[in-house]
Amino acid sequence: MSIAKNLLSIKNNLPEQVTLVAVSKTKPVADLMEAYEAGQRIFGENKIQEMAEKWEQMPKDIQWHMIGHVQTNKVKFMAPFVSLIHGVDSFKLLKEINKQAAKNNRVIDCLLQMHIAEEETKFGLDEKELDTLLTSSDYLELKNIRIVGLMGMATFTDNQDQIKKEFMHLNSIFKKLQSHKDILKHCSILSMGMSGDYKLAIECGSTMVRIGSSIFGTR
Ligand SMILES: *Cc1c(COP(=O)(O)O)cnc(C)c1O
Repeated sequence: MSIAKNLLSIKNNLPEQVTLVAVSKTKPVADLMEAYEAGQRIFGENKIQEMAEKWEQMPKDIQWHMIGHVQTNKVKFMAPFVSLIHGVDSFKLLKEINKQAAKNNRVIDCLLQMHIAEEETKFGLDEKELDTLLTSSDYLELKNIRIVGLMGMATFTDNQDQIKKEFMHLNSIFKKLQSHKDILKHCSILSMGMSGDYKLAIECGSTMVRIGSSIFGTR
C-alpha cells in the first residue's frame, strides 16, 4: 500500500475528536511529502536536528510535533517553529523551553509526559511529581509555555488488559486535571496510542494518536 492510502484509511476511521500525528522519524522528505500531498499537516519527529532539517525543506503550513525525549541544550534549535512538545517531564526542561520561546517571542505548547508503563526505562512523571510541578510558584512564573495536556506510552507488551489499564490510568489523571481549571486552564490534549495500540487508546479516551509505521512502513 502507498503512504497516501495508508494515511487516508487510518484518517477515515478516526473519530472526529482525535487528531492524527504522522510520525515520520527516520523517513525521507519524499515520504513526508507524499503524506502532505494527501492532506496531512501534522508530523511528529523524535530528533530535534532531523525535525529542523525537514522543517527547512518542507512547506511552512506544517505543524511539527516533537514526540521524543528532549535534551535541554537542543531546545533552541526547535524553539522558532515547533508547534507542540509532547515529552516534557521535568521542570528544568520546561524552564529552558520557556526561555527559548521568550527569545523567539512565542508561547510554546507542551504536554507533560506521564510515566504509566511498567518498564523502568520509559521517561515521564509520576502523579506526585506532576502535582508538585503544577502547584509550584516557579511554574506559575513561566509565561512563554502553555501546558495543554498529557502524553504517555504504555508498556511494550501483547497483554491488552495491561495496556488498557495503563491508558485508563492516564485518562483518569487527565480527567482530574480537566476538572481543576484553577491548576491548568487549557487541558484538552491526551496524547496516547501508536500504530500497535491506537484503537485501544481511543477507546480509553485518547484525543491525539501518534502513528508512524502503519503510515510510512517499518523503520
Ligand atoms: C516512534 C514513536 C511513535 C510511533 O510509533 P509506531 O509504532 O511506528 O506507530 C509514537 N510515539 C513515540 C513517542 C515514538 O517515539
